[in-house]
Amino acid sequence: MSDSPAAELGRLCRLTASLVRDITESRWSGMDHIRVESAVAAALKEIAGKVASCRKCPLCEKRKNTVFGEGSPAADLMFVGEGPGADEDRLGRPFVGRAGGLLDDIISKGMGLRREQVYIANVVKCRPPGNRDPEPAEIAMCAPYLHAQIDLIQPSVIVALGKFAAQVLLDTGTPISKLRGNWGEYRGVRLMPTYHPGYLLRNPGDKALAWRDIQEVMSVLGLEPPARTQ
Ligand code: SF4
Repeated sequence: MSDSPAAELGRLCRLTASLVRDITESRWSGMDHIRVESAVAAALKEIAGKVASCRKCPLCEKRKNTVFGEGSPAADLMFVGEGPGADEDRLGRPFVGRAGGLLDDIISKGMGLRREQVYIANVVKCRPPGNRDPEPAEIAMCAPYLHAQIDLIQPSVIVALGKFAAQVLLDTGTPISKLRGNWGEYRGVRLMPTYHPGYLLRNPGDKALAWRDIQEVMSVLGLEPPARTQ
């Protein structure tokens, strides 16, 4: 007989808490950053394995692939979107469609970073059918995975991409037009809400506002814009 979702959730929370505790102890004990990074990568891999077989909420029923997240286990900067779309569901990777292309441009051309230097994840790890918003119960079931990612990686800044991710992470119904550009906090990490790249593709006139948000993030991270080639 399989365990109830609540029992599975409890077990997952205990597992992630113990992984996070081990990593935190390693950081405090002065373990060198390469060993800490590989311990974080191993812990993330273990949790990704749990996600791959997760059936805790109804979103498992129509998914092709789970989309755990990807990037550097030592990332200073983490992007969090809402959930996988069709391309992400097909490939099992976050932000790989047209919106992903724009996010790549923001990261590389705007911030002077490589995609592999940041970490990219979503609030839910399975595609909501028809790209509907995830239900509160689905978010609650999936939240421990995102919490584990944040607690293990310990980024300096999270950028919430789009209305849904920003409202969920900041626990508010305030419109994204009012949230964007204003610092918030999630699990003790500074959080900057901004427009979703998909929204920016449909509304290019708002790219300047998003760029302002990204510049705020760069200033906190001490990043200079990359030199432009003539
Ligand atoms: S959305 Fe999250 S909780 Fe729901 S089945 Fe997928 S991984 Fe599990």
